[in-house]
Amino acid sequence: MQKRRKYIFVTGGVMSGVGKGVATASIGALLKARGFCVTAVKIDPYVNVDPGTMNPVEHGEVFVTGDGQETDQDLGNYERFLNTDLHAVNYMTTGSVYLSVIQRERAMGYGGKTVEVVPHIPLEVIRRIKKAGAEADADVVLVEVGGTVGEYQNILFLEACRMLRLEHPKDVMTVLVSYLPVPGALGEMKSKPTQYACRSLNSVGIQPDMIICRSTHAVDAVRKRKLSMNCSVDERDVISAPDASSIYEVPLHFRSEHVSERIIAKLGLPKRPIKLKAWTDLRDRMMKPTKPVRIGIVGKYFSTGDFTLSDAYLSVIEAIKHAAWAIGRKPEIEWLNSEAYEQDPELMKKQLGNVDGVLIPGGFGTRGVEGKILAIRYVREHKIPFLGICYGMQLAVAELARTKLHWKDAASTEFMPKTKHPVIHLMNEQEERMKNKDYGGSMRLGNYPCRLAPKTKARALYGAGEIVERHRHRYEFNPLYRHELESAGLVISGESPDGSLAEIIELENHPFFVASQFHPELTSRPFKPNPLFLGFVKAAAKG
Ligand code: GLN
Repeated sequence: MQKRRKYIFVTGGVMSGVGKGVATASIGALLKARGFCVTAVKIDPYVNVDPGTMNPVEHGEVFVTGDGQETDQDLGNYERFLNTDLHAVNYMTTGSVYLSVIQRERAMGYGGKTVEVVPHIPLEVIRRIKKAGAEADADVVLVEVGGTVGEYQNILFLEACRMLRLEHPKDVMTVLVSYLPVPGALGEMKSKPTQYACRSLNSVGIQPDMIICRSTHAVDAVRKRKLSMNCSVDERDVISAPDASSIYEVPLHFRSEHVSERIIAKLGLPKRPIKLKAWTDLRDRMMKPTKPVRIGIVGKYFSTGDFTLSDAYLSVIEAIKHAAWAIGRKPEIEWLNSEAYEQDPELMKKQLGNVDGVLIPGGFGTRGVEGKILAIRYVREHKIPFLGICYGMQLAVAELARTKLHWKDAASTEFMPKTKHPVIHLMNEQEERMKNKDYGGSMRLGNYPCRLAPKTKARALYGAGEIVERHRHRYEFNPLYRHELESAGLVISGESPDGSLAEIIELENHPFFVASQFHPELTSRPFKPNPLFLGFVKAAAKG
């Protein structure tokens, strides 16, 4: 018998940044803890086909799926909370939806009919949501509609929600994640903006089934009643969701508000017991440690824009936390500005001497690069545990070449196109793409296998001879310099199975100096930290 698949649309009210993504992921975690197969789809309302071409100030982190789709950071939270891998089908933007409708039209896919914004755009959205459900064979598909209700941009996605509900009245529900401000001068929680948000949803033909009330405080019974009355939502479906000290507590908060019981009742899903031991254990691990492990992240930082630095490095931060909790330490992250090091080496010594480990994350362009190289030299010479990721690995190679081989201009052609020692260079396949201005989704993206060399740290950490990790880069270690760099002490501990591409480098005679071309942060999970992060944080905790 065919499964009656259920769909839960999650929309946002009042303002952006209220934690819709974490709310979506937490609902998913609870349903999964009841034994349902859950998948999640994120819809972003912008016209970019994917976020890969946006700069981090605009967008924050670009999360990459195993199958190489550049997506939004919410996909990272879904993967971490659902403890599952998601795929390209779990992500769409206005741009990607229009692109496929237009391509289909060009291929006579609409059989000569007039193709219109309504219904054809929402129908394509529905087709994709159903496909995501079918590919995961999910019982429940969560669909997070980006943006806020009442704005122009996401209206066609809300239309898709309305149309799908019309088709399956018993199998679709809508959740409104809203915000209740507590203005300082009043000291009282206000529900009116949420009432307006609900009206906005009503005006596009959608009645929310549940309202999740984000706020600095818990929502009391009086306001629950008020919202229930004004928004036509059962009081039991007005959910209090005050700020949590960690996002990983949110599923437990939702549990105490009976979120999944209510969803199950509404969608007619079978009642099943909930198993939350993994989550309560995680909470205990998070709460217990008192001794900190201090990790410095050296990057170039953005002082303006909608997104803050923590958005740009979200998965890196989460991966550090997972590893720290796993070894019973309290993660403390210091943001260190590499640009400042270029002018002020004393500041660098002070700051780097004050942390237990230093991480250099991925990056692009020229700004702050020389400061990162100085930082790498410092941690190498002072035996401070170091983890380099992507650009962080490439710059570690440049630093080694400069210091050990005395090639003062050793660099990546990304930041020094005319260097005589291009130890990092554009990958072959990228040359043509760059010439043709083919920038969209054209990096080396997603899963690639990596063979680990025996008797190396990488091999010991992963405990396997071959691994698969996710990538996002255009440049690579230049094999022309391999021999010289190896004789200068560089150990290539991971490479592509055909030996053509260096994936992990490390140094001997150092407590921990490991860097990868891939992004280990993308596969770290709260219940299973990534091995490179675990090794790095362990080494830092020893110091
Ligand atoms: N800019 C470098 C490259 O494209 C590194 C990319 C990254 O750090 N994600 O290869």
